[in-house]
Amino acid sequence: MVVEEYRGMMFVSHFLTSVLGLLFFNIFFELSGPEFLAGIILTSLLAGLPDLDSQHSRISRKHKKTSWLVRRFTKHRGALHSPFVLLVLACFLALPSLLFTDDIVKWVLLISIPLQLHAFTDFLAEKTSILYPLTRKKFGLGVFRTGSRSEKFFVDFLIILSLGFFLYLDKWFELTILLLTWLLTLPKQKFVFSKRKSIKK
Ligand SMILES: [Zn+2]
Repeated sequence: MVVEEYRGMMFVSHFLTSVLGLLFFNIFFELSGPEFLAGIILTSLLAGLPDLDSQHSRISRKHKKTSWLVRRFTKHRGALHSPFVLLVLACFLALPSLLFTDDIVKWVLLISIPLQLHAFTDFLAEKTSILYPLTRKKFGLGVFRTGSRSEKFFVDFLIILSLGFFLYLDKWFELTILLLTWLLTLPKQKFVFSKRKSIKK
């Protein structure tokens, strides 16, 4: 029996690349402790958000009604994978930060990290509506295949490269956070791959 396989990047890959983005952001913007913590929370909440446009994604299985509503307006890797739409969404989501800070730009950027990196990594692998609303036409680079070992190798390669970079710059905080996140998500990656194997015949 052949079970239809969902081909999309794993949540854990989006999460790891977003954490990576946050760590590089931290080097340049030197976030305070609470800001960095907020960044990590935003990353885990938002790294998978654009995939609300796919019925089979992890986030859609958790938020069925929201996903249903999103799918009334867009196809998978359509408008919700467009950098422009995601920037507008980030500006909207950052509005509550005005209650406690004047620096809304920093919060727009913090919220944008997981959203834009999701769109960018999907674009590296698959065709997405990267130029929406200019055109709905989809473009992609095909650097790796989503949901396959090449995706894991790509993410692992980025992480190893970054670990070397942080080590070179003596950025021990970034190095520790990245190493911890990578190790903690390792069992999750294995689980997904073994599950994928078992449904393929
Ligand atoms: Zn996606």
